[in-house]
Amino acid sequence: MPARERYDAVIVGGGHNGLVAAAYLARAGRTVLVLERLGSTGGAAVSTRPFAGVDARLSRYSYLVSLLPQKIVQELGLNFTLRKRTVSSYTPAHREGRPTGLFVGGGPDRTRESFERLTGGTAEYTAWEAFYGMTGHVAERVFPTLTEPLPTRDELRRRIDDDAAWRMLFEEPVGAAIEAHFSDDLVRGVVLTDALIGTFAEAHDPSLKQNRCFLYHVIGNGTGDWDVPVGGMGAFTEALTAAALSAGAEIATSHEVTRVESDGRQHADVTYRT
Ligand SMILES: Cc1cc2nc3c(=O)[nH]c(=O)nc-3n(C[C@H](O)[C@H](O)[C@H](O)COP(=O)(O)OP(=O)(O)OC[C@H]3O[C@@H](n4cnc5c(N)ncnc54)[C@H](O)[C@@H]3O)c2cc1C
Repeated sequence: MPARERYDAVIVGGGHNGLVAAAYLARAGRTVLVLERLGSTGGAAVSTRPFAGVDARLSRYSYLVSLLPQKIVQELGLNFTLRKRTVSSYTPAHREGRPTGLFVGGGPDRTRESFERLTGGTAEYTAWEAFYGMTGHVAERVFPTLTEPLPTRDELRRRIDDDAAWRMLFEEPVGAAIEAHFSDDLVRGVVLTDALIGTFAEAHDPSLKQNRCFLYHVIGNGTGDWDVPVGGMGAFTEALTAAALSAGAEIATSHEVTRVESDGRQHADVTYRT
């Protein structure tokens, strides 16, 4: 049960975003309560032991870390380990009646070989390097802004300082850039996955939702690398929970918020059921 009647901040939901907010607010001296509907914290960032008799913890839903700024890891003193992946993806295919595929990983040489075997030439891998060189430059410039006051569009454009990249990623549907860079349909599909996954957008959607999704996949920590948390995402969530608790936040699991009534300015009444 929550220890007080009133808190400076009540956070609905103990996923990783709620826990980060709780840790920072508590460290700033605020009284903080996290109300979590489920029996444990973590939301979509949790681990499970799927194999009976094997003490291996794997991520249940969300499983790779890229967008977590080192600044947050350091400031909150989060204790968990990330490992680099050796394989990014493998996409099986049929070409001329025989099974083949595109392997991305194992270092640049193996990836290049796989491109050449699939496409029969060097052009697609050269295009791949140029395209991800461009996104790498954008990543270095954009990622630091995630923990800074939100820049204006013009400020961000000046910071990126690459008109072609700005047009491809921020102004035109990213499908156009992918089609202009790559001619192999399977390669186009692999690149486009990062733009469409989890959205209902399509490559040429005028809303540019797919561009936003693509940027989130390529800017992480200024490199676009996606790393594996040892012990699964649950290990990371446990580090966050520990940081929030040690800063003085209270966390009440199995507490579902059913109503929030706010004056729209300063005060809110929060109703929950256990
Ligand atoms: C299958 C899958 C795979 C993914 N893979 C990745 C990945 O590899 N890497 C990555 O970075 N992102 C991934 N994502 C996205 C990522 O998981 C989410 O962006 C992230 O979990 C959002 O965190 P959150 O704290 O905002 O919300 P959530 O993790 O959804 O947490 C919200 C919490 O609020 C609680 N809650 C909801 N309503 C109430 C209520 N009324 N009262 C009390 N508590 C409530 C929920 O129980 C939950 O614990 C994936 C998502 C899914 C679904």
